[in-house]
Amino acid sequence: MKYRYCYHCGKPTIQKEIEGRQRSYCKQCRIVLYENPIPSVAVVLTDRAHRILLVRRSVEPGFGKWCLPGGFMEMGETPQQAAIREIREELGIDINDLKLLDIGTHLNGYYGDVLIIGFAAEIDAGLNLNPGDDVSDAKFYLLDERPELVFRVHENFIRTWRRRTGL
Ligand SMILES: [Zn+2]
Repeated sequence: MKYRYCYHCGKPTIQKEIEGRQRSYCKQCRIVLYENPIPSVAVVLTDRAHRILLVRRSVEPGFGKWCLPGGFMEMGETPQQAAIREIREELGIDINDLKLLDIGTHLNGYYGDVLIIGFAAEIDAGLNLNPGDDVSDAKFYLLDERPELVFRVHENFIRTWRRRTGL
């Protein structure tokens, strides 16, 4: 994932130890091309009966596996706006009243290191779900009858949610 080319001038970078880490450096621009985790969001969506809404992925990583709805933040968005947008894109529904749940990381994955901001929200189980392009299915599950999630950090969010709600 290191920057092999400078994103300012397009010239090849060199690898150099800077501040105790190997980093990409552009000799022309004299800048360090720092790498950082990518911010994303995930939402523990539950109904009044405490069933949890999961989505089945139709994209890599984790094609065909289940996970929490969510995705990467876009430029200019707050984490809350990103969560609301992702839920609209993946499920075709609007949510509000998001509660910050937890923060986690997914390291060395398909996209490198990802920072995941976890939210919780309650939704009406009677809403019509319209799964979007990244999702092949969306379903409410009882907590003890749900499939295992493809991302460990999502499992951690559900654990945090259960601890908070005492379920
Ligand atoms: Zn440069």
